[in-house]
Amino acid sequence: MRCQHLPDYLVTVSGESILKSSRTRPKFFNALIRNISDAVSRAGGKVVNISVVEAKIHLVTDANVINAVSRVFGIYRVGRVLVYEFRDLSDLARWIAENSKEVVMGRRFAVRVKRSGVHSFTSIDVAREAGALLKPFSSGVDLDNPEVVVEVEVRGSKAFLYRDSVKGPGGLPTGVEGRALTLFSGGFDSPIAAWYTARRGVEIDFLHFILGPLESTYNAFTVAKKLSLDWLYGYKPKFIAIDFRDVVKEIVEKVDWSYRQVVLRALMYLAASKIAEELGYDAIVTGESLGQASSQTLKNIAAIESCVKVSKPILRPLISFDKEEIIDLSRRLGLYELSSKVVEACAIAPSKVVTATTVDALSKRLESIDMRIVEEALKKRIVVSVLDARPEDVIPETDIEIDFIPSNAIVIDARKEDTGGLPVESVIPLSKVDFNNIPQDRPVVIVCDTGSLSYVIAKELREKGFKAYSLRGGAKTCKTLAEKSRATQ
Ligand code: ATP
Ligand code: MG
Repeated sequence: MRCQHLPDYLVTVSGESILKSSRTRPKFFNALIRNISDAVSRAGGKVVNISVVEAKIHLVTDANVINAVSRVFGIYRVGRVLVYEFRDLSDLARWIAENSKEVVMGRRFAVRVKRSGVHSFTSIDVAREAGALLKPFSSGVDLDNPEVVVEVEVRGSKAFLYRDSVKGPGGLPTGVEGRALTLFSGGFDSPIAAWYTARRGVEIDFLHFILGPLESTYNAFTVAKKLSLDWLYGYKPKFIAIDFRDVVKEIVEKVDWSYRQVVLRALMYLAASKIAEELGYDAIVTGESLGQASSQTLKNIAAIESCVKVSKPILRPLISFDKEEIIDLSRRLGLYELSSKVVEACAIAPSKVVTATTVDALSKRLESIDMRIVEEALKKRIVVSVLDARPEDVIPETDIEIDFIPSNAIVIDARKEDTGGLPVESVIPLSKVDFNNIPQDRPVVIVCDTGSLSYVIAKELREKGFKAYSLRGGAKTCKTLAEKSRATQ
């Protein structure tokens, strides 16, 4: 018997992976083992041993990793277990009883056994023998309505006794179904669309269009990071940011307002299609849900797809979901708070949006767009590894002026007098700053009265290697931010 000081886990794989043909199954199990190992190491543990035992996965680690492992796609259930290599039925029953006495003490109990492999006894034999040994310690056997269940898996020569277990997310191991690019705003829908697609075995990367406020982009990245850290195991997800602000400007100049949303959407598809083709993705994913927004009517979706010849299939896992269902999952995945911070960027069509675009009407408008602007935006794309990058890394280098204060920023106050009102915990007055002591791995935001002195300082700091920003609008913006922060408290 192996000593029990390291945590043992038994992973039940989702039924679909087990039912695969003998040719496909090893690929699924290998992917699952890779992803579980990644989850363990991200949770700060080390895999001591991982092996397949009769279609289950036995994992030995040096740390408590049950929560991380329970988020690996392709897992039906993961349990912390005691393991025993038994000699015969009575040896097995004695071991089960010895390790379950305290659990059944004074309670009505049942022993449930599952068995796989060749043995001279049945699962019922094991349950009966162990039950008989445990009965004197309990308040009786109750198979229909037990207060506590002693659960055992017998797999070959080993027995696993469950201590506790957590349900996994199901689905297929991430990676077995190829790679997809998710059109990612970071709002409520696109992260859930990404999650559902990843759950079906697809490696997800994020494609974000910068449409206006950089705060949206900053927050979109933080949502992608949380989703990746918690759920996307076995690979390193990428975040691609494309600055579409000039494209939005072009749309506003050339397109009548009721068509702007659909034209923007068509150009997003077009850009995504080009990137997917260039980088070899298998599909494009969006968070569209039928009729949820005026740009997402069936007629608009159909017209856009006819006008833009997208190179890859477009997957829309949320097409038939109600908003409440999406929000509910967003809460359960712990993304709600972060997603609700993503400001909806598009003020390009303030009201009445066309809901039944025809192919003719849309293509006429698309012809008026100077496609070189889209090409230019594609060329200047920013690509980072989500797990390694910080949110400010997806803000274009040329943006020195910003309208918000990043949550991890060091704020330097260059106002003539402290007019207060900055909605941040600590501010360093310019006169007291020692730049030798300011860490370069955090963004620095300078605030002044009008936004011009802060701009000059930010530029100088950039030359010294700081990721420095000037708060556009100075004291006036401080006031607006303070009011906004009070309103959301
Ligand atoms: P979401 O909650 O994902 O923002 P939404 O309900 O706000 O969706 P739209 O803004 O119409 O709806 O967007 C529909 C889909 O288009 C999004 O789910 C996403 O896939 C894509 N999308 C929208 N904005 C962006 C963006 N800035 N960058 C990348 N994709 C986007
Ligand atoms: Mg949105």
